[in-house]
Amino acid sequence: MAANILIVEDESSILELISLNLHQAGFNPIRAISAEYANNLVKETIPDLIVLDWMLPGMDGIEFAKRLRANSTTKNIPVIMLTAKNEEDNKIKGLDVGADDYLTKPFSPRELIARIKALLRRRSPELVDEPIKFSGLLLDPRSHKLQANNKNINIGPTEFKILHFFMKNTERVYSRNQILDKVWGNKSVIDDRTVDVHIKRLRETLNNSGHDKLIQTVRGAGYRLSKD
Ligand code: CA
Repeated sequence: MAANILIVEDESSILELISLNLHQAGFNPIRAISAEYANNLVKETIPDLIVLDWMLPGMDGIEFAKRLRANSTTKNIPVIMLTAKNEEDNKIKGLDVGADDYLTKPFSPRELIARIKALLRRRSPELVDEPIKFSGLLLDPRSHKLQANNKNINIGPTEFKILHFFMKNTERVYSRNQILDKVWGNKSVIDDRTVDVHIKRLRETLNNSGHDKLIQTVRGAGYRLSKD
C-alpha cells in the first residue's frame, strides 16, 4: 500500500511534473486542480500527506490548510506548502496555519521527494520503512503485508503496528504504557488494557505458524518479541 499523496496545484504542468515524480518514487499521487476539489476529495479519502500550492484561484492554500486543521479527521495530515513567494513573513504565515514544511518555487522534484520522505518518516514511519525479517516472519510496512514461513497472514491494522514496533525493537521488554505511546501516540487516551486485547489478537494471528510464542509476557514488566 503506497502512501497516498494529494497534490493541490492549479498549474497543470507543475501538477503533472510532481505527479510523475511521486509515482516514480513509489507513491500514489492524487491530483487536484483547486482547493475546492481537494476539499471534496479529503472527505472521501484521507491522504497520507498533502502537497499544497499557496497561490490558487478561489480558495487559496492558506485557507485550505486552515480548514484541514479545523477538522478532526484531517487535522493531522502532514502538509508541505509550495509558493513562489520567498518572503520570510509568508513562510511564517504558512507555518502558522499548520503547514509542516515549506518549499519555494522553483524547486527540484528531488528536493520535494526528500522533504516528503522526511515528513512521512516522522509522521507515518510505516509508509517509508524497509521490510523486516525475524525468525521466519517477514513484515513489509509499505505494502502492509505479513508473511510467516513464506505464507501470507491476515493481520489487523493495530496488530500490524504492534508487531512492526516489536520487530524493530526485538528482545527488549516494553511496558503497556510504552507500547501505547509508540503505537497509538502519546496523545492517546486509550486504557492500557487495550494493549492486552491487541496482544491477544496478535498471538491469535500468529498462532497457526507457531510464531505466537515469540510474543512473550514478562511478568510485572510488559511484553517483548524474543526467540528465546
Ligand atoms: Ca498556483
